[in-house]
Amino acid sequence: MEIIIRIEGGSKVSNGSAAIEDWNRRRAAKLGLRWCLGTWTVGLMTVILPVVHFLTVPSCFLGGPLLGLLVFRFYRHSTDIITGKGSCPVCGSTFKIEPQTVDWPFYLKCTKCSAEVGVTRD
Ligand SMILES: [Zn+2]
Repeated sequence: MEIIIRIEGGSKVSNGSAAIEDWNRRRAAKLGLRWCLGTWTVGLMTVILPVVHFLTVPSCFLGGPLLGLLVFRFYRHSTDIITGKGSCPVCGSTFKIEPQTVDWPFYLKCTKCSAEVGVTRD
């Protein structure tokens, strides 16, 4: 999905565009579940290790759901930026937004003038 973004900095505003993909609760829950199961798998694999398994098995068993919940909470309102571009409201130079996972609004540093600019969805 292509969206218009609003870039604010130094009490000025400029616009840009970004190709994005939104995370929803279902997709975040799937990823959280995968992390939980992955952690349990690691815990199961360490059962054969002498002594170490006394620590790894319980911590992986208890840590799996906790890690899954953290992953779910991190991603449920996030957006993947696939590509994006805009212009710095302070110095006017154009810049590219690197692919990343963000929560709105997020902040970038201009590569030319080092001003911190806030990026919001329009
Ligand atoms: Zn700038």
